[in-house]
Amino acid sequence: MNEMKDYYKILGVSKNASQEEIKKAYYRLAHKYHPDKGGDPEKFKEINEAYRVLSDPEKRRQYDMYGRVFEEVAPGPGFEYQWFWGRPEFDFEEFDFGDLAEMIEEMFGIGASRRRKRDLKRGKDIEVEIEIPLELTLEDFEKKIRIYKFVKCPRCQGTGAEPGTKIIECFSCRGTGYVQEIRKTFFGTFTRSTVCPECGGEGYRPEKPCNVCNGEGRIRGEEEVTIRIPAGVDTGQVLKFEGKGDVGRRGGKSGDLLVRVIVRPHPVFERRGDDLYIQVPISFSQATLGDEVEIKTLEGKKILLKIPPGTESGKILRISGKGIPHFKGTGRGNLYVQLIIKTPKKLTKKQRELLEKLKEEGL
Ligand SMILES: [Zn+2]
Ligand SMILES: [Zn+2]
Repeated sequence: MNEMKDYYKILGVSKNASQEEIKKAYYRLAHKYHPDKGGDPEKFKEINEAYRVLSDPEKRRQYDMYGRVFEEVAPGPGFEYQWFWGRPEFDFEEFDFGDLAEMIEEMFGIGASRRRKRDLKRGKDIEVEIEIPLELTLEDFEKKIRIYKFVKCPRCQGTGAEPGTKIIECFSCRGTGYVQEIRKTFFGTFTRSTVCPECGGEGYRPEKPCNVCNGEGRIRGEEEVTIRIPAGVDTGQVLKFEGKGDVGRRGGKSGDLLVRVIVRPHPVFERRGDDLYIQVPISFSQATLGDEVEIKTLEGKKILLKIPPGTESGKILRISGKGIPHFKGTGRGNLYVQLIIKTPKKLTKKQRELLEKLKEEGL
C-alpha cells in the first residue's frame, strides 16, 4: 500500500464526502477508466484501491488518522514463531531454520527418530574469505587473520557464574533440561518438548550471572588466528578450522572457522585444474629453423625450452610437473606452453630486403 497516495483526490471527492458520494464517484471513474473500454489499467487499479479503502468505514478511519491502512497480512508460505519471544536473553540470531524441515517431518510423523538433538550451547561457525595470489598455492603457507567473534569471558572463565557464586537449578525448565515449545503454523498449533535454551539442557544455571557476560560465559571480542593453507588450494574451496569459531555459551563447544579461498587470476599463467598454461611468442624464423628460448615457471625458475624446427603456430609443449601441486596429494600438474608465431608489424630496411628475397624463393 502506497502511503503517499491521496485516495480522496484519486476519486475526486472531498474529505467529508458521504459514502454515497464516494460510491457515485467510483462508478463514474471506474466506467471511464475501465481497461476493457481502452482505459489506463494503472489508473483503474488506483481507483479500485482508493475505493476499497474509502468504502470501508474502518479502513477509511485508519486512513484519515494515519495516512495509511493497516492491511490484514496475507498468510505467506512461512511459519510464525512464538517460541521464546519476549525472552531477551535468547540469541534469536542462532535460530536454525534447518528446523523447519524437521518441524514439517514431525507434523507428519516422519523423521522423528533421526531428529538430531541440537546443541544450543555450541558457538556459531564463522565464515571468512581470503584472496591469495596464484604463486602462494605452490607451497603450504601460514597466514594470520584477525576475526571478530565470541571469546571466553575472562571474568568467569566461561562458566557464566559471578566468581564465588553457586550453580543452581534452572528455573526455566525446573531442572529437567527441557521446555515446552509452541509453534503456530498453517496446519495448527503444535507443542513439543525441546532442549531448554536457558541452560542448554543441563538443568542448572549460575545463581548469580557474571557481571561481564551476563551469564553467557562469553563476550564479543577478537582473536588472531593462524591458519595453514595447504598447497594446491583452488578458488571456491572452504577450509575448516575446528573450534576456531565462536566460543559456545557457558562452556559449550566452540564453532568452526570456515575459510573460503579465492585464488586471484595470474596475468601470465592460466590455471586449469592443477595445470598451468602460458603463451610464448616466437618469430617465424625460430618456428621454421627451430631454436631455444628461455621461459620462467610460476615459481620464477628459468627453463630452456627447445622449439623443434617446423613448429606450427599454436603448438603446445608440455613441461611435466611444473604446474600446481595436487591438493593434499603428491606431485604436481603440468605446465603447457603454447607457441605463438608473431607476424612483425614494422620491419627494418634490411629485414624487408631479406623477406623480399624469401618471397622470391617461395617462402
Ligand atoms: Zn562471564
Ligand atoms: Zn533449563
